[in-house]
Amino acid sequence: MIPRTVFDEEHEMVRDSIRKFLAKEAIPYHAQWEKDGQVSREVWLKGGEQGFLCPTVPEEYGGLGADFRYNAIIAEEAWAAGCTGIGWGLHSDIAVPYIYNYGTEEQKHKYLPKCISGEIITAIAMTEPGTGSDLQSIKTTAILDGDDYIVNGSKIFITNGQMADLVIVVVKTDPSKGSKGTSLLLIEADRDGFDKGKNLDKLGMKAQDTSELFFHDVRVPKENLLGQEGMGFAYLMQELPQERLSIALGAVGAAESVLKQTVDYVRERKAFGTPIMSFQNTQFKLAELDTEITSARVFTDRCLELLVDGKLDTVTASKCKLLTTELQCKVADECLQLFGGYGFMWEYPVAKAYADARVQRIYGGSSEIMKYIIARAL
Ligand SMILES: Cc1cc2nc3c(=O)[nH]c(=O)nc-3n(C[C@H](O)[C@H](O)[C@H](O)COP(=O)(O)OP(=O)(O)OC[C@H]3O[C@@H](n4cnc5c(N)ncnc54)[C@H](O)[C@@H]3O)c2cc1C
Repeated sequence: MIPRTVFDEEHEMVRDSIRKFLAKEAIPYHAQWEKDGQVSREVWLKGGEQGFLCPTVPEEYGGLGADFRYNAIIAEEAWAAGCTGIGWGLHSDIAVPYIYNYGTEEQKHKYLPKCISGEIITAIAMTEPGTGSDLQSIKTTAILDGDDYIVNGSKIFITNGQMADLVIVVVKTDPSKGSKGTSLLLIEADRDGFDKGKNLDKLGMKAQDTSELFFHDVRVPKENLLGQEGMGFAYLMQELPQERLSIALGAVGAAESVLKQTVDYVRERKAFGTPIMSFQNTQFKLAELDTEITSARVFTDRCLELLVDGKLDTVTASKCKLLTTELQCKVADECLQLFGGYGFMWEYPVAKAYADARVQRIYGGSSEIMKYIIARAL
């Protein structure tokens, strides 16, 4: 493996501690969480205690004030360990940054310390039953009535939806203005008229709760507006590179891990009296995948450096998400094949890795939307 210069010694210590944490607090429980359709509250609180939640939040709000490389390590290790149920990436890398980037001082002091401790679990609700890729067409409204917004509409496929205590909801505050009428509202889960639908039954990522959310005349004080009214779409565009890089980092972490497990397996497993690894087909497949993972890793690390320097643009982040998530699916598919029938068995991590990988090409902007963004810039 070529050396990764993006991390220093301190980062590697964090990698070691997250690995140990996952081995003790997550891996032994993951199969049960898959049956439950969600992880435990306890793992969030324990992760919070260890400083694994929202490490980039400044110290004045209770965070570590670290840079995004800490988040990167956590994303890589969680995916490498197959712990896809813990929705920390969505919380730390995607939802909470909206609060500290666009929130008022009051909002930051109210919510961030508990987001860091794990007492508040967040979600972000953009997608609706009628629209996903075309975010400008959302229909959920928040219409001002005195000092409150009245929210009506529904959302779907919301990660952490069942467990969330606080949801950043993308709404239309002025439906006549299209994207310029879009705003972000912080909605606490216990507000009257806010109902969580059922925990959705998915193909993969079975320990991660994914829900429908319903809003029926929900009164939300106007102090809960995040940033300025009408700026919601601009804020979403601003945050997308980090969201896409977070997905890409997990993709490469997962791909590397699956490849390693496969190499171990084909060295042991025999057919026709010889290890599967001795067949040229096996060697060539693994060599190709290893080469592609190495080049994806270099690109992802460069994107991480750019993000830390505040220079990662939307097009580059889209290329990174497209390349890495397509590769993750390819690696999972090719490696599963090398496991033969065992690869199809749920108890084998490669089966889970195959199922979990599939959604990475869909959420956070589908591969087709990534290509659209890349092509538009050519
Ligand atoms: C497990 C999971 C977790 C999720 N978590 C969240 C979350 O936390 N918050 C949230 O808001 N959303 C979440 N989503 C929703 C996700 O972001 C959307 O599913 C995704 O954006 C695609 O939207 P859609 O499902 O409506 O598909 P559609 O937009 O209906 O797309 C269907 C197909 O058409 C293609 N397509 C659409 N437009 C174009 C175009 N212009 N050119 C070419 N092809 C196109 C798409 O690529 C796709 O292949 C999650 C989804 C899943 C499955």
